[in-house]
Amino acid sequence: MSETYTVTAKDGAARAGLLRTTHGEVPTPAFMPVGTKGTVKTVDPEELRALGTPILLGNTYHLHFRPGEDLIAELGGLHRFMGWDGPILTDSGGFQVFSLRDTIVAVDDDGVTFRSVYDGAAARFTPESVAGIQAALGSDIAMCLDICPPADVPRTELAEAVRRTTLWARRQHEAPRAEGQLLFGIAQGASDSELRRRSIAEIAGLGFDGHALGGLAIGEERGLMFETTEWAANALPADKPRYFMGIGDPEGVLEVIERGVDMFDCVLPTRTARTGSALTWEGRLNLRNARFVRDPRPLDERCPCPACTRFSRAYLRHLINQEELLGLRLLSLHNLRFVLDLTANARAAIEEGRLAAYKSEALGRLASAAA
Ligand SMILES: [Zn+2]
Repeated sequence: MSETYTVTAKDGAARAGLLRTTHGEVPTPAFMPVGTKGTVKTVDPEELRALGTPILLGNTYHLHFRPGEDLIAELGGLHRFMGWDGPILTDSGGFQVFSLRDTIVAVDDDGVTFRSVYDGAAARFTPESVAGIQAALGSDIAMCLDICPPADVPRTELAEAVRRTTLWARRQHEAPRAEGQLLFGIAQGASDSELRRRSIAEIAGLGFDGHALGGLAIGEERGLMFETTEWAANALPADKPRYFMGIGDPEGVLEVIERGVDMFDCVLPTRTARTGSALTWEGRLNLRNARFVRDPRPLDERCPCPACTRFSRAYLRHLINQEELLGLRLLSLHNLRFVLDLTANARAAIEEGRLAAYKSEALGRLASAAA
């Protein structure tokens, strides 16, 4: 049994577990809302707590440039700075650097030089520097600097990304961390069986506290993504948490949980909210649609969130149409609650050995709504 992670129940490939961090336990499977710039957009940390948020994700890239990790450290670290005393995972910033392809100046074995998206100033990330930033932020879980190439790059480029990702993981594993901070390695290799398996073997061999599958959900075909997840998740060590980076749609969440994924993050619930759409058991409701103009019902009869217990679809539609901030906030609260509840219910289903039934019922409801 690992000190930091315990699998408490299994149902097929799916697992329920407990991850122990400096700021508390995280029941898994766990959805991590994304607090890009030290805030989950429009949502107060007290509200996140009330929604049942087990752990938040913070973005190293953005916090490094604005307001800077030194200032955050001076003010007591990221938890105190943003008023959230629960667990926080910080990414390494690598995903932002490598997805903003036009800002990359040079990549070499030592690190990556790029231009800041804020002011164009030259900047450089190395495994040691992102370890230092995350140590200063004081997150509970730090992530390794990796190279995530776009979907369908030439295989030689994918192989080079896998090679450098291991090289960097080895160095970051040796770099200083905050006290009690866990460190997760990231496997790359897209859906290429040989490269992905090589990456997993190399990363898993370094002895991290958990492992992530990076380089999926970046535009490849969804069937292929789930197929890859199925064998890749199970190739990761079973006694450590497995993190799928970047999935948060209701169907996708259930698919990766079934395949043995323990943690995942996505901006989808809050980004969808800001476009005026709600995630519900009737599918995605676009509140701008005229059919809601006189609709007195809540978004979801059974949802205990502030939007559903107090307001009608007609009122929410009015707020969204008038671009009132309260509308964005209420939809964000509801959408987060929807994905958090879906995940918590999947966990309960795993504990009771009925995940397959839960998943097929949930997917059936979501599909009939979409039809
Ligand atoms: Zn709701």
